Order: sequence, then structure tokens, then C-alpha cells
Amino acid sequence: MTSLDDLPIRPDLIGLKPYGAPQLEVAVSLNVNENTHQIPEAVAVDIIARLAESLLNINRYPDREFLGLRQALADYLNDNLESALSVDNIWAANGSNEVLQHIFQAFGGPGRKALGFRPTYSMYALIAQGSQTDYVTAPRDERYELSVQAMQAGIHENKPNLVMLCSPNNPTGTPVSLEVVAAAYDALQETTGGILVVDEAYGEFAHDQSQSAVTLLAGRPKLLVSRTMSKAFAFAGARVGYLAADPAVVDALRLVRLPYHLSAFTQAAAEGALAHSAEMLRTVDDIRVQRDRIVTELTAMGLDPYRSDANFVLFAGLQDSAKVWQQLLDRGVLVRDVGIAGTLRVSAGTETETTAFLSALREVIGK
Ligand code: PMP
Repeated sequence: MTSLDDLPIRPDLIGLKPYGAPQLEVAVSLNVNENTHQIPEAVAVDIIARLAESLLNINRYPDREFLGLRQALADYLNDNLESALSVDNIWAANGSNEVLQHIFQAFGGPGRKALGFRPTYSMYALIAQGSQTDYVTAPRDERYELSVQAMQAGIHENKPNLVMLCSPNNPTGTPVSLEVVAAAYDALQETTGGILVVDEAYGEFAHDQSQSAVTLLAGRPKLLVSRTMSKAFAFAGARVGYLAADPAVVDALRLVRLPYHLSAFTQAAAEGALAHSAEMLRTVDDIRVQRDRIVTELTAMGLDPYRSDANFVLFAGLQDSAKVWQQLLDRGVLVRDVGIAGTLRVSAGTETETTAFLSALREVIGK
């Protein structure tokens, strides 16, 4: 049998492992920051009708420019963030991972450098690798916060072409203030004139949702704000991520996307979800309550949760986090070991799932 070692793959891919958290069949799955609520049945029925209609034209390629979906995404942002975006400001792809890949393909590449602030979303390094972009990281402050000073030090020392600010940050949950975003833009323009990406995959879960970098786009043509329908919209399986930026940026991304990259089904389903955005987002408040409950209860157990504006909580204070991870799994609760000693990350689930996690953890640590 042929093995990977026998194939003439690119030298820089030799020895790499494909990315992916375990997908295990467990009762309580809280390891990949999904929205664990199902979408409302009435919305599902409308989406099915739209899928059926698109099926009748499935012999044709879909709208390559997905104008209906881009308009719906612009409307969603404008309604919630008082922005004035049009279709020309919006891009979308199969998950925000693909949006990020388009960004690296267009603005990174050989000889270019991207900067993240560790610990941060692990896909940045992998997407950089895949696009042969150099990837470096700079440290955060205490408790994984990011100050203007730490951000400026990172940019001035590394002189990156691309800066990734994840807000709220995965895996820490900590937000990046708009003051830091604006200062990062200035610092980057003064050094390399590069691209600043703010990844707001978890933006809707913030305590103050209005603090989106979308509100900073006007007058900042090299600021890109990436978002997703995977989390707040409970639409992870549909694979829809999007971006708001200057129209020239969208033109650049169009150079690297594959033609017809968003299927007719994806476009129909996403438009259906956005037509009911208020209903689709109804679970966000419940999730925020469970997130805050996790922080309170973990603190009461003597553990050390970090401040979270996302739908998950990173917590420290465990003696042996790998062992606790396994003991939780033995009790049917799957959380994430993000590779930081003494620390685990848990997604806020439904009230029942959150209770199951908290009870299992209490049992494991004997509290
Ligand atoms: N950005 C961050 C910070 C994430 O945590 C994730 C998902 N884990 C993504 C982007 C990508 O999500 P998707 O491709 O589902 O939009």
C-alpha cells in the first residue's frame, strides 16, 4: 500500500498532521465552540423550501458573485451595527476559515509575514503554512489581554504584512478593544502598510456587541473584519463565513477564489437563515447566560476562568488538565485541551449540557 511518505508532496508539508479536534460520539459535546442549540423549526422549514427551489436550477452554476447573499449579509450588519455597508463591501466563503485562506492567498504568500498574538486561533499558523506565508507570534499581557503597548511592540518588532487580531480571542475568550484595533491599524500603516484582519467569529456573544471593528471600517481601506454564521447563527454545518471591508479588498479576494465556490444550496440556506436572523440569534442570550454561569461556578470551585466575551470559557487552576480532560470524557463530557498546562476550554452549551459539565467537573476535582 502506498503511504504518504511515498508521494512526491511539497517538502514543507512533510511530517504535518491535518488539523482537527476529536469528533467523538458523546452525550455532551462542548469542544469546538459550536452553538449546541438546533435552529428553530419554522426557519428550517423555510430553508428547506428555498433548497427545493434551488434544486430545480441545479443544472446551472450558482451566482458566482452571490449578490443576494452579500446583500443579506450587508443588511444584517447594517441592522445590528449601524454601519452603511453595501454588497461591494461584503465577501463570503465556505466558513470563515476559507475567508481567511482567501486573505492569505491574496495578501500573504512567499516572502510575506503574518503576525498573531499567542495563544490565538491555531488555524492562522496552518493557513499561513498552506499559503507559504511566514507566521510569527508575539506575546499578550497578563491574563491573555492585549494592550496597545503589547500590540505595538509585536508590530514594531516583527514588521508584518498581515496582522491577525482575534476578538474575542480563541482560545482565551478575551476581547480586543476598539482602541487597540484602531492603534494596530495606525502602527501597521506606519511600518509596512499591511493588512489588518480582525476575526470576529464570536462577535455576537460579546457583553457589548456594538464594539465591532465593522464600526471602524470607514476610512481604513486595509482593515478587514471576518465573521461567521457558524457560531451565533448555529449554522456551522452549512459552512458560511463572511467578511466586511473596502470594495478594493473584495476585488483582491475575487482573484484567488475558485469560480462558483459557494454552492447554490449554501447560498439558498444562508439567505434563508438571514431572512430570519432575529429568530436564529434568539439562543445567543441563553448562551451568554450559561457562559457567565460557567465563569461564576468555576470561580466558586476554586478554579481560575479567564474573562470571556465568547461562547466558551478557558479556565486554569487544574493540577493535571490532560487527566481531567479524560475523566470528563469518561463521564460523557467532551471539552478541549488547548495545550496550555493546567488549563482546559469548554463551550457554553444549553442549560442542561452546562449543568452536566459543571457536575462532572465537580465530581472529578472533588468539589
Ligand atoms: N475564527 C475563529 C477564531 C474560530 O474559532 C473559528 C472556528 N473554530 C473560525 C474562525 C472558523 O470558523 P468557520 O470556518 O466555521 O466559520
